[in-house]
Amino acid sequence: MGELRSTLGTWVDGHAVVLMGLLVLLAGLLSVTAVTAWRLWQGRRRLRKRLESAHSELSDLRGRDPLTGLVDRETFEKELVAAISAAEGRAGGLCVAYLGLDGFRAINDAYGLRIGDAVLREIGNRLSVWLDGRPQVTRLGGDEFALFCTADASALDALAEALQRLVAQPLKVEALSLQIGLSIGLAVYPDDGARPRLVAHAGLAMRTVKQTGGNGHARYDPAMAVNHREHSELVQELRHALARGQLQLVYQPKVDARSLQITAAEALLRWQHPKRGLVSPAVFIPLAERHGLIRAIGAWVIEEACRQASQWREVGLRMRIAVNISGHQLRAEDFVDQLLDSLRRHGIPPNRMTCEITENLAIEDTPATRLAFERMRRAGLHVSIDDFGAGFSSSLAQIRRLAPAELKIDGGLVADIDQQEAARAIVRAIVQLARSLQLQVVAEGVETEAQRDALVALGADQLQGYLFAKPMSATALALWASGDGPATASAFRPSLFDPTAPAMLDGPEPSITSRK
Ligand code: C2E
Ligand code: CA
Ligand code: CA
Repeated sequence: MGELRSTLGTWVDGHAVVLMGLLVLLAGLLSVTAVTAWRLWQGRRRLRKRLESAHSELSDLRGRDPLTGLVDRETFEKELVAAISAAEGRAGGLCVAYLGLDGFRAINDAYGLRIGDAVLREIGNRLSVWLDGRPQVTRLGGDEFALFCTADASALDALAEALQRLVAQPLKVEALSLQIGLSIGLAVYPDDGARPRLVAHAGLAMRTVKQTGGNGHARYDPAMAVNHREHSELVQELRHALARGQLQLVYQPKVDARSLQITAAEALLRWQHPKRGLVSPAVFIPLAERHGLIRAIGAWVIEEACRQASQWREVGLRMRIAVNISGHQLRAEDFVDQLLDSLRRHGIPPNRMTCEITENLAIEDTPATRLAFERMRRAGLHVSIDDFGAGFSSSLAQIRRLAPAELKIDGGLVADIDQQEAARAIVRAIVQLARSLQLQVVAEGVETEAQRDALVALGADQLQGYLFAKPMSATALALWASGDGPATASAFRPSLFDPTAPAMLDGPEPSITSRK
């Protein structure tokens, strides 16, 4: 009996242990399952939250420009319709402003899309803040924006100036400080068009501003549509101008600021149009650039200037010849080779040719422009930075890297020099910069003796402007040199028959291997 009890006891003990084990296992399993379930639930919750926030971001973005976060065109148009109906019968007009950034492409090309995008975001942000976040501004694509606000005809100038100031503030992007200009077209409701035409009309006005050099504003005028047609006609005619022999060069001397001897003659293009008369290069050069005609025209300018310089050299006139170079030419791979080829064929040493390149082009700083500068320098060409101090502010480092031979101070600064201390201060700084880099300083657009005296006092090396001579034909320049010119020309005469320009820049003339 006792044996049975003990056997039973052992059996019960054994099973109790197994049971306990099973219970522990079950509890373990249950807790693992609970933890897994908890984790799964948490994960799902997180996922759902993410999904919800993505949905809300998406619905935020719906109706918005993904780059700038401004309302899209459709929303903008709806807001404009609502604003127009609200304005109906109320005093105070409604104005649409169409904004085009000037020189944005150059920024994109020079610094890349990331910086370009950051510039657009910043401009969008400034405009949005300016409008207190109201959905009254949109990006129309690329570097163009449109906005509307209450303003009648008398307030348009003030409106445009406020926008100019807003955009002109330096843009701090990464380590860069950039500046950008603005072209503004304005259209007032209802005088300048019914609602569906307002934005287009403001756009046309903006394009007119761009055509005339940008960085300004214009109100829509029905004549602009006609001008647009005229403009297409002009492009057509420009295509044939070269072949029809309608292009010519005139020459304007640069003179030494102290001795008044001629140092160079700058070739300036003219278009003798059969019906319109003389068309200014300020009008047709931008057209030629926009319509792919500038390379052919530019090549002709170089060829013709070399031919003329060679003819002058034959009669003993040995000043340097200067040509203006467009960005489109500079970016062409074979530009320097073609230039050297023209020089060689006409027997002009490269250091007798000045290539005038505008400052805003020079600071583009793309591999193509950098290479062109390097090649020009290696070939011994004399490079001048034109319109210096007009727009973009080049850094000392940039100018040093480009290593030009001269800086040509913008005529706008020269115009103010005898009146404004600010203009004098800028010119003083430019002269100092040039001294430290051993560059020559040329001041252009000198019209008065007061300007001349101020420039001489500030240390400009060479002067150019109507005070000394207007651009003239090659024949007039040669006649002038031989004594048939106006009495004031006598001061220049002796220099024309000497090898001119300072020795520092020139050195000895290299021997010419192939004369024409
Ligand atoms: P730019 O190179 O800055 O040339 C100076 C402009 O100022 C010229 O106008 C010249 O005639 C004018 N000017 C000279 N002295 C005075 C002065 O004392 N007072 C005033 N108010 N103006 C003066 P232009 O000949 O009408 O040329 C305008 C622009 O067209 C030039 O500016 C240049 O950027 C461009 N251009 C002219 N010829 C060519 C060319 O062959 N190729 C290229 N790419 N551009 C050219
Ligand atoms: Ca020039
Ligand atoms: Ca200039």
